[in-house]
Amino acid sequence: MTDFVTLHDVQSARSRIAGKVVHTPTVQSVALSEIAGVPVFLKLEHRQTTGAFKLRGASNAVASLGADERNRGVVAASTGNHGRALAYAASLEGIRAIICMSSMVPQNKVDEIRRLGAEILIVGKSQDDAQEEVDRLVAERQLVMVPPFDHSAVIAGQGTIGLEMLDDVPDAATVVVPVSGGGLGAGIAAAVKGLKPSAKIIGVSMERGAAMKASFDAGRPVLVEEMQSLADSLGGGIGLDNRLTFAMCRNLLDDLVLLSEDEIAAGIRHAYAVEREVIEGAAAVGIGALLAGKITSSGPVVLVLSGRNIDMELHRRIVCGERDPFAEIAA
Ligand SMILES: *Cc1c(COP(=O)(O)O)cnc(C)c1O
Repeated sequence: MTDFVTLHDVQSARSRIAGKVVHTPTVQSVALSEIAGVPVFLKLEHRQTTGAFKLRGASNAVASLGADERNRGVVAASTGNHGRALAYAASLEGIRAIICMSSMVPQNKVDEIRRLGAEILIVGKSQDDAQEEVDRLVAERQLVMVPPFDHSAVIAGQGTIGLEMLDDVPDAATVVVPVSGGGLGAGIAAAVKGLKPSAKIIGVSMERGAAMKASFDAGRPVLVEEMQSLADSLGGGIGLDNRLTFAMCRNLLDDLVLLSEDEIAAGIRHAYAVEREVIEGAAAVGIGALLAGKITSSGPVVLVLSGRNIDMELHRRIVCGERDPFAEIAA
């Protein structure tokens, strides 16, 4: 159960989810290559169905269910990219998905996840209340919880990005990955290092509330205070009872760098103005780190652009260079 995910697991995941997820393009960025002095490629995973890579892990987890589990259905408490992905992956297979969320979640997020095929249960006023409802559904109705990162099938699914990347850029020397709970980083690192042990994997998080970095520093999973960040998909903890991603990331990541909000904004702006891509803050940390001079590599670099689910008014404010993009719109 607590076995680390291997290259072989990722290869199995790839055949399991073939046809259910997009093999996203990897394209060279002329501008970033010039800045870095080595070829820089962008893995355009924000163009994945549902707008983020999380569909890979959710699809692999759903495809790995036994017949009984498929009949009972899946459940999660995520209102972000994992919730969207699980809703879509389950509905594609005709499996019931229940996403629990608190009454504080904005209506547009609720509507989107419902549109992707999930049943929505509104419970309580906090994420903790929603998670309690998930635990109750698992205990009383035997639904299967699919967590967003600390789960071997989820990690293996995310790792399929690493296989596609090496197919498209076989001489990649450095891979730069956004890190929150670490499922994406652990999966990609397992795949890439399994095939090419010399490749370096650099994780990037935001300065404001990086749970994996704080846990590395403490030598064990720790809680961090949640703070508003442009990289909202990188917020949240890694779980005090983390089984897989903390240890895998500690073993497999060569570095974990942190970015300021201005550096993340610069990444979003560059993606839009120069690469002509709309990406969310979490997806912009690779570009932001490179622009900030925080990535060095003696060979080709691949940056993972992980998602595009950003509020478009927020995006407009960032690309227009507004100083306080989170400010309330004046009435
Ligand atoms: C979830 C997410 C991440 C971080 O993935 P982890 O597996 O939690 O480290 C990065 N970018 C986007 C867009 C995400 O949705």
